[in-house]
Amino acid sequence: MALLKSNQIKAVRFNTRPEAFQVYTERQLDKIDALTLLTEAQRFEMKVVAHVLPFRVNRYVIDNLIDWKNIPDDPIFKLVFPQREMLSEDDFDQMAAILRSTDDRGLIVNKANEIRKKLNPHPAGQQTLNVPYQNDEPIDGVQHKYRETVLFFPSQGQVCHSFCTFCFRWAQFIGDKNLRFSCKEADKLREYLAGHKNISDLLITGGDPMVMKTDHLAVYLESLIKPELNHIQTIRIGTKSLSFWPQRFVSDDDSDSLLELLEKITKTGKHVAIMAHYNHWREMATPLAQEAIRRLRAAGVVIRTQSPLLNHINNDPDVWVRMWREQVRLGLVPYYMFVERDTGARRYFEVPLVRAWEVYRQAIQRVSGLARTVRGPSMSTGPGKVEIQGVSTIRGEKVFVLRFIQARNPDWVQRPFYAQFDPEATWLEHLKPAFGEKQFFFQDEYDAICRDKFASESC
Ligand code: SF4
Repeated sequence: MALLKSNQIKAVRFNTRPEAFQVYTERQLDKIDALTLLTEAQRFEMKVVAHVLPFRVNRYVIDNLIDWKNIPDDPIFKLVFPQREMLSEDDFDQMAAILRSTDDRGLIVNKANEIRKKLNPHPAGQQTLNVPYQNDEPIDGVQHKYRETVLFFPSQGQVCHSFCTFCFRWAQFIGDKNLRFSCKEADKLREYLAGHKNISDLLITGGDPMVMKTDHLAVYLESLIKPELNHIQTIRIGTKSLSFWPQRFVSDDDSDSLLELLEKITKTGKHVAIMAHYNHWREMATPLAQEAIRRLRAAGVVIRTQSPLLNHINNDPDVWVRMWREQVRLGLVPYYMFVERDTGARRYFEVPLVRAWEVYRQAIQRVSGLARTVRGPSMSTGPGKVEIQGVSTIRGEKVFVLRFIQARNPDWVQRPFYAQFDPEATWLEHLKPAFGEKQFFFQDEYDAICRDKFASESC
């Protein structure tokens, strides 16, 4: 506690008695009083979709973030509650027919799994291309795609305080163990990191690692301050708890010890970065959310923010302007605008790449230099993170100007490349190289990386 007193992390104005965490899943949809504002048909539609895509929402989100006078249009409502259009008409009708005709769990689950398979549960080769090997064995719960950064999925952190309807990791939440990344062993992670001195950043992710009790998180974090891991300079923690459960940093029974732990790590000289997911400025508007930010910053943590551009939620430059301005005011660093990924309920959320670029451009022009730290719009694809830099006309051809921000081969980074302009395209795979080229410059090499990986796995 001495550390806490010294830097004023302690909350002064808040009731710091732990608040009960109350959560609703697909089976408890009928217990959410506010949903009586919807018609019975709308509630049934919600159930149909919730049988396919994961659904989970907590009381704080229901009571504080959703404007119930504005449903079904409210952006946070759409961020957490399933909507009919998230499934194709055909899939929706089939699932609805099953639910109307039977309560046989086996039949319902079979149909759900059939539909899920069509929704590209693991985009960008996550389950194959990114898993590293140690002593010829794959290391479960770890992904190593870019040279400097390793992703770690602690097994106790593979759930979230609420689920986002757009989530690109939705497959982890549907109970299929084959589709989950998670690892219990801090030792395996430490061994792998110790053997790779070129890794500078560890991203602890999920789900949401902040669902973990401080004691569990401490097992992983404290192992990172051992001398053999001096090369790990930055510990990033991907989380949406600042939005969905800010109590985690203010009033949970172990929130003080969590902040004490984070402060201890920052005092060793490592950079601790909270990679905060915010999709709308409303998520930062509650006094509790702002107090959580204040306490994290007092612990020496830097909060960086990211979000995909989502139709129905933030497909509007005004929303981004207000969000980035507010983030800068609260001391957060805007980091990424992503393009909605090619998985799950993408059909509902995606916008054409050209629209994403227009929203980004219109928003970035209206914020000060301190908010222009945000990069994007970026696609997290198999070869790397591809940013849309703009639309231009070169030698009479209208093109997208693209670049890698991160890539499987670091040599690809920052090399501009060009695609034929396509007003409908929503992902890299839809784009064709410009100027009559047969393929993009990285294609042969990327194909070879994929071939090598698959060959080594079949050995
Ligand atoms: S908090 Fe992150 S991992 Fe959890 S559902 Fe939302 S996007 Fe997915």
